[in-house]
Amino acid sequence: HATDVVVLGAGPAGLVLGNILVDRGIDCVVLERAERTQVQTRARAGFLAANTVRILEQHGLAEGLRRRGQIHGTCEFRTEDGRFRLDYSGLGQREQHTVYPQQELVTDLLTRFLERGGQLRFGTEAVAVRDADSERPEVAVREADGRPGLWRARYVAGCDGRHGAARRSLPAGTVRHHRDHGVTWLGLLAEAPPSLDAVGYAVHEHGFAGHMARTSEVTRYYLQCERGTPADAWSEERIWDELELRMRAREYGPLRRGRVVQRSVVDLESDVLEPLRHGALFLVGDAAGLISPSAAKGANLAVLEAAVLADALTDDLTAKNPEGLDAYSARCLTHIWRAQEFSHWMIGLLHGPSGADGESLFHNSLRRSRLSSLRTSRNHQDWFAEHYVGV
Ligand code: FAD
Repeated sequence: HATDVVVLGAGPAGLVLGNILVDRGIDCVVLERAERTQVQTRARAGFLAANTVRILEQHGLAEGLRRRGQIHGTCEFRTEDGRFRLDYSGLGQREQHTVYPQQELVTDLLTRFLERGGQLRFGTEAVAVRDADSERPEVAVREADGRPGLWRARYVAGCDGRHGAARRSLPAGTVRHHRDHGVTWLGLLAEAPPSLDAVGYAVHEHGFAGHMARTSEVTRYYLQCERGTPADAWSEERIWDELELRMRAREYGPLRRGRVVQRSVVDLESDVLEPLRHGALFLVGDAAGLISPSAAKGANLAVLEAAVLADALTDDLTAKNPEGLDAYSARCLTHIWRAQEFSHWMIGLLHGPSGADGESLFHNSLRRSRLSSLRTSRNHQDWFAEHYVGV
């Protein structure tokens, strides 16, 4: 097979890229390892930044989220020093989030891509990208029937996540910046209405707990747990008891309990590759940089990078202007590192060592001071809001 652009992966990055290219009449194909139902039901992100919504709107991809997404502009911190709220939609750049579950966004993007006549091969796994430094790179695939196949293209967009073929095909010498933040979250999806009209961040001596609305019937919770804890280690009763303890339900009101329908264990890690271009191969989204979910940036970066690459590919393929492609890596790395810096700051804000030794006490005092500054300093709040909603 041959085309102009082979896109690996039908997540937010691959589907935004594919949609923009098809809309502009550029020949492309999206190769996706999973089956359609799996792609459409993977519950992950939910908080879309204002800039993400702008990009999706600009490309006619925001109809579903405009209709069903919920506008969100408040977060609440609960700590040993009391609770406070930040109405971030009135701070910083005065922007807000749109809460729209990732699987619904992916479903919309997929539907639109197929309606626009886009080619999407489900059940097709990219095995390797070859000859990326040539004019005619190849993608070796395992087709849905198990047989090997080959795609030739002018460019390959690696939107296939952290464990995809794009990352595996990088030349030696690619720099990998990796950080294990030493914190683990149990991510939970509960069939329960939200308990607060805000994102809730609880800092407790037992560890962090988080509350994030998804829809009127489904809420995401996070519980910090010991590294290595299996996802099914805690009973539902223990989960709710621990969430209520850490979120100080006795002082601030009970949580609305419901069935826990999905669990995952997330080790908070950061992982950025540099550069994001190797000849004809470009890395986009989680394939380019993995970010801890502490500040909900991953899907937003994926959409931004896909839009930047789409413009650059369009300029190159339709006007023979390679400037955008040449600038892609540096431009996206600037956004990635800004998001990494803020996520890292959030990790420090929300977690502290549990020990009673001098080092732990020092860190916990810094954390309390950081929260106190956020509670009282308008300048600090503006800075927070700008980075919290911005990408
Ligand atoms: P993915 O969504 O991972 O898509 C990659 C696709 O490539 C997949 O469909 C996969 O099947 C396919 N693929 C993989 N390998 C191959 C191959 N070899 N060949 C072909 N196809 C392949 N981000 C936020 O912005 N806000 C949040 O609130 C948020 N919450 C999160 C909560 C959790 C529990 C998790 C795990 C993540 C969260 N994220 C959040 C991060 C966000 O989900 C990711 O950053 C986002 O999905 C990245 O999009 P992507 O398209 O780069 O990759």
